[in-house]
Amino acid sequence: MAEPILEVSGLVKHYPLTRGVLFRRQVGAVKAVDGVDFTLGRGETLGVVGESGCGKSTVAKLLCSLERPTAGTIRFKGEDITRLSGKALKAVRRNIQMVFQDPYTSLNPRMTVGDIVGEPYDIHPEAAPKGDRRRRVRELLDVVGLDPEYVNRYPHQFSGGQRQRIGIARGLALRPEVIVADEPVSALDVSVQAQVINLLDRLQAEFDLSYVFIAHDLSLVRHIADRVAVMYLGRIVETGRESEIYDHPTHPYTQALLSAVPVPDPEAREHRERIILSGDVPSPTDVPSGCRFRTRCWKARERCAREVPALAVPEAFRAAPGPAAHPSACHFAADEQPGRRTESQLNGNGPG
Ligand code: ADP
Ligand code: MG
Repeated sequence: MAEPILEVSGLVKHYPLTRGVLFRRQVGAVKAVDGVDFTLGRGETLGVVGESGCGKSTVAKLLCSLERPTAGTIRFKGEDITRLSGKALKAVRRNIQMVFQDPYTSLNPRMTVGDIVGEPYDIHPEAAPKGDRRRRVRELLDVVGLDPEYVNRYPHQFSGGQRQRIGIARGLALRPEVIVADEPVSALDVSVQAQVINLLDRLQAEFDLSYVFIAHDLSLVRHIADRVAVMYLGRIVETGRESEIYDHPTHPYTQALLSAVPVPDPEAREHRERIILSGDVPSPTDVPSGCRFRTRCWKARERCAREVPALAVPEAFRAAPGPAAHPSACHFAADEQPGRRTESQLNGNGPG
């Protein structure tokens, strides 16, 4: 792998859960992020995927130093950035920028596009001499495919896709090395999603950027991610190269997510297995013991309630290197899969 630019280790973010107004007392914790480890290589894209509420945005905020972790470290080019303050914190924030999920709410409607894109220079005046800002803002608009003549317009005068380009231009203003894109296309029409993803792809090569690209849908990150991490209830349950995850998923949760991705070909659709998970995602205030996925897992056995599975290459796949030999937090990743049902069985056409 490329030289690491971000190394995340044992990352935890718990929000206190309080009761009472007059006598506020802590009655528990929302375990939004509960032990996350990953490495991002320079120039690489890591896709982080998981259902709503699994902790993706919290990871994004921690990476961008917008929140402080409860525990764990985030190393940026070797240096732990989780305990920085003052000038050092400001400097690292410059280097790791966020692109937000919803371009409709993240852009101030009363500011012109020029002011929005140039705002980072107000916070970091050292990044651009005052007399040079206008020229830079125009260049940034050009870089993201917008007409520089638009500087004096307001956000409502743009489409969703254009607004996200404005958000991306602002993210680039300080020439960061890492961009954390938190569901950057989720709020956009399907028809413009690919355009924005292609733009991010082009900018990555042009500006030597490393990406953490967050999505709730595995199919969205397939074409941009070099590696993928699948999250469930505050933890990464499986991670590997793009082809390993899509073609050889070994965690039951990833298998279930992939089985739900729409397949255009009716022939393929009939033969593939559709895995239906039982129940709902448990609350992050009340995480199951042992494997946190066990309450919805068709493979769950007694051991799963007792023992937290480590995110490691499963024993059975270690001996024979191949696409299945990637980290997966399941005690029974290599076992046969009882209880799975195909689409046709679900429709009542097969033995069930
Ligand atoms: P995602 O982006 O994957 O949808 P989030 O990181 O936004 O997930 O949230 C993870 C969990 O943490 C959710 O249950 C959410 O309600 C909770 N959460 C997020 N931010 C806070 C906060 N500031 N205070 C309390 N709970 C929070
Ligand atoms: Mg989110």
